[in-house]
Amino acid sequence: MSDAPVSDSLKRAQQRLIEALENAGRSSQDAHLLAVSKTKPATLIREAYACGQREFGENYLQEALDKQAELADLQDIVWHFIGPLQSNKTRAVAEHFSWVHSVDRIKIARRLSEQRPDALGPLNICLQVNVSAESSKAGIPPGELDALADEIATLPNLHLRGLMAIPAPATDLASQRQPLGHLRNLQEGLRQRLPDAPLDTLSMGMSDDLEAAILEGATLVRLGTAIFGARESHR
Ligand SMILES: *Cc1c(COP(=O)(O)O)cnc(C)c1O
Repeated sequence: MSDAPVSDSLKRAQQRLIEALENAGRSSQDAHLLAVSKTKPATLIREAYACGQREFGENYLQEALDKQAELADLQDIVWHFIGPLQSNKTRAVAEHFSWVHSVDRIKIARRLSEQRPDALGPLNICLQVNVSAESSKAGIPPGELDALADEIATLPNLHLRGLMAIPAPATDLASQRQPLGHLRNLQEGLRQRLPDAPLDTLSMGMSDDLEAAILEGATLVRLGTAIFGARESHR
């Protein structure tokens, strides 16, 4: 089975995003695509880049560093780290990424702030929230979000940009919207709580729930399969 060229699927994904924004009564500038390239080779990232895509999301540190090295000539790529993050990996993430979407512990946030090189400017952070209350999933429980956000907002080398979630899979639109709407409400609460924080990002929506996420106010949708095709089974 051969996948469609990345140029075609990227165009379709952009079209899908624009239609979803229109249906939601939002402007076409209100949300953009993060291309999730985990497990996919650097050659496909280069193809997407050639079509104008600049923001890419990676989940596995070593794999990401290898691809960044291969793509070092593409200097304006913006790299987002979106996978689980352990303390022993924070330094490399602080040095090699512009964004981290998966922060859910103060210890990790403190290390990222301490280890962020001054020359790179603040690291953009989204807090991952467990909106589906599944014990197996990463993310901070909603009830602990305020305390974590208050403390992170004081860290000098981080910019707290917003929230991220990976809800439990659901097939109908109403069930998809429920946890995403919850994340949007949490973000609204944080904006009132922390008026000085640059909280402009709702990182939610993947290949299967983009439309629901856009209806609930997503500003950054993270698409993997829809752009790069199906992934081999998880390694
Ligand atoms: C893999 C992944 C995605 C992309 O998922 P698709 O269903 O392939 O679009 C988005 N966000 C995170 C955090 C991921 O790990």
